[in-house]
Amino acid sequence: MILINEHYLKLKSSYLFADIARRVTSFQEKHPDMEIIKLGIGDVTLPLPKACLEAMHKAVDEMGKSETFRGYGPEQGYAFLREKIAEFDFQARGAQIEPDEIFISDGAKCDTGNFQELFAQNITIAVPDPVYPVYVDTNVMAGRTGSFTNGRYEGLVYLESTKENNFIPELPKTPVDLIYLCFPNNPTGATITKEELKKWVDYAHEHKALILFDAAYEAFIRDEDLPHSIYEIDGAKEVAIEFRSYSKTAGFTGTRCAYTVVPKACMAYDQSGKKHPVHELWNRRHTTKFNGVSYPVQKAAEAVYSPEGQEQVKTNIDYYLENARKIRTQMQKLGFTCVGGENSPYVWIDGQMDSWEFFDLLLNKAGVVCTPGAGFGKCGQGFIRISAFNSHENVEEAMRRIEKALG
Ligand code: PLP
Repeated sequence: MILINEHYLKLKSSYLFADIARRVTSFQEKHPDMEIIKLGIGDVTLPLPKACLEAMHKAVDEMGKSETFRGYGPEQGYAFLREKIAEFDFQARGAQIEPDEIFISDGAKCDTGNFQELFAQNITIAVPDPVYPVYVDTNVMAGRTGSFTNGRYEGLVYLESTKENNFIPELPKTPVDLIYLCFPNNPTGATITKEELKKWVDYAHEHKALILFDAAYEAFIRDEDLPHSIYEIDGAKEVAIEFRSYSKTAGFTGTRCAYTVVPKACMAYDQSGKKHPVHELWNRRHTTKFNGVSYPVQKAAEAVYSPEGQEQVKTNIDYYLENARKIRTQMQKLGFTCVGGENSPYVWIDGQMDSWEFFDLLLNKAGVVCTPGAGFGKCGQGFIRISAFNSHENVEEAMRRIEKALG
């Protein structure tokens, strides 16, 4: 008899965005003429930067000629891309990351989800609340939690991000081994300073813990003082893995390319306390279970670092940041307290009512779709997330409708 992995049965039955889609469909059926504006899911709307598109076209043509055709590539990624990443994303900011510490992949979702595989079953895991659900669900699937009761999984340590702590969680009160952090944060849009991040790096050193730092929204940072990478913090290379993605940076959500930084200095331990480089473990996993990203897509990603690519990416991100500014300003004008929307495409709004109630209110009265904060965890209750990924026109129209509905 084929038995299932029963840990899957612990997962919450429906996914947040499936619930949202159901409500939106039901509303649309009742109001077929209403044009719904979607500011919910964090998917980009602008097309690929021209530099990426041209590089991809050229690479596709190379694949069609025997002299330039390429078969299986290195699973870790082509040197041309890894070298650019090391130089532009890290060394230029004073972080000494080498090309062979970078693993190209098809997504930060997969990498943040898969990385836990390297570690023992009985480690203690700290996750933010509210949280990007992938960190939690992949640990549930791996059997590292108990059941889901009162909005939380037994066995996890929740790092609460609340108004009281300015949405930057405090260090755990009980020792933990694996810590997930995400800045600029999804869903709150909060950012972390170097001083605050240093506390986490010091904690990880003290407890021989590891930080999984998700920097998928790094490109939205405009404030000069904020760290773009955890490796800007002294000592981070020994205790932190960093995840980056071209999804939001360069509109690659449908094209798929991301990378994970695993410094060679980063160590984990066996039962006897002996050190093992995490780099070797991830390299083993990556080369066994992953085939590498296609050559044309890596060429498109490389073009992000060309002068034109840099300019075009900045223009696109500025476009979304302008939307975020409009959303934040308008919601504040209506009397709501907001976080994010600066250095982040997300605005986290204190709705002062149940999250789903606020969601329904915006959908039914304004035809605007947001994301209810409660879907991201207990601490998200009472909040909604509005995303800046849409056109200026749609965001302006959404804000006009919200003002009319709530004003
Ligand atoms: N990490 C965070 C915090 C995200 O919000 C997302 C996507 O929304 C991802 C990772 C996924 O990135 P990718 O498209 O590279 O899988």
